[in-house]
Amino acid sequence: MTESLSAASISAAFESAFGHAPDGVWSAPGRVNLIGEHTDYNEGFVLPFAIDRAAGVAVRLRTDSTARLLSSYGNQGVVTVDLDTLSHDTMTGWTAYPLGVVWVLRQMGVKIGGFDLYLHSTVPTGAGLSSSAAIECAVASAFNELSGAALSANELVLVGQRAENEVVGAPTGILDQSASLLATDGHAVFLDCRTQESTLVPLDLAASGLLILVVDTKVSHAHATGGYAARRASCELGAEVLGVAALRDVAAADLAEAAGLLDAETYRRVRHIVTEDQRVLDTVAVLGSEGPAAIGELLTASHASMRDDFEISCPELDLAVDTALANGALGARMTGGGFGGSAIALIPAAAETAVRDAVMAAFAGSGFSAPDIFAVSPAPGARRIA
Ligand code: ADP
Ligand code: MG
Repeated sequence: MTESLSAASISAAFESAFGHAPDGVWSAPGRVNLIGEHTDYNEGFVLPFAIDRAAGVAVRLRTDSTARLLSSYGNQGVVTVDLDTLSHDTMTGWTAYPLGVVWVLRQMGVKIGGFDLYLHSTVPTGAGLSSSAAIECAVASAFNELSGAALSANELVLVGQRAENEVVGAPTGILDQSASLLATDGHAVFLDCRTQESTLVPLDLAASGLLILVVDTKVSHAHATGGYAARRASCELGAEVLGVAALRDVAAADLAEAAGLLDAETYRRVRHIVTEDQRVLDTVAVLGSEGPAAIGELLTASHASMRDDFEISCPELDLAVDTALANGALGARMTGGGFGGSAIALIPAAAETAVRDAVMAAFAGSGFSAPDIFAVSPAPGARRIA
């Protein structure tokens, strides 16, 4: 069911929209965070992988200062802007993502004049797979090459993050862009959010007869934004009371002492972050020593910690996780910010139909609307495809 990106069809669509061939086509993937949730803004560890769904952009530079942008998504037609008058008022809707990247690069002194740009993405939007970072990273890769700026992948990560923070206005970290830009096929990206140092960790699911199913519950509970802000505030309070720069600096062995210093709720929030950082480290170690079939319990423990200590799960996510586990999953957890969105389940490839059917039946039986369920596999990061 995965629609793979075709450079030829993206080029053809560009040519029919703009009347000439593009200078090139670049792609950048969405991502799934395997483990390490809410650890990013605590300067801790995350372990995402790039998925086999990506945004593709075809770009041709122009000799004037006009930018024309078109996406295959929706029916929105060509958006035309003058780059010399680019402002937060003219970077609106979906164009905030590509124009935001161009705006940040120009702020950094990279010379970018007018261009025509066509976008086609196979990353579903709003499913927690980071369709937004896929666009940013594809666009950043394109202009990095076309402008001759030759920024490093780590610098492009920060370009994408700035576009998302300063232009789109979403307070996100570096997880999504790091996965999209740094990943390689069959690997996850182990990322230290304090130092931005990353290591590729083998995650060859297919070789182990495994796959990861994403269950997009399609629910977004109303308290998601407030809940996210409240969790960040609890983490900051915890770090302040414990006298550390960030919760990353609290070791699992320090938790007993922390319990005596924090109120009960803040302690539970802190315990999630501290144990989750350790689970990321443990997952990296187990992937290296035993392979992906052995990480299931860590994934499931991560879910329990988010459900009970961080309290960011919801009935739909718990049902997806519990049903997957009862039907052959080796491990399962909610992924993303919480209060809705997606769960992931690590399953033997042979169990795919059974898990899918069981989750669909469980949702119907609980009166929840039908989720979207699809398999993803680790894929390469951003690159030029034509
Ligand atoms: P996520 O990144 O989790 O998918 P976001 O809300 O961060 O969700 O980003 C989704 C937004 O990205 C959409 O509302 C839209 O503005 C933009 N977007 C994603 N895919 C496309 C696309 N193919 N064409 C145009 N805009 C897109
Ligand atoms: Mg996003």
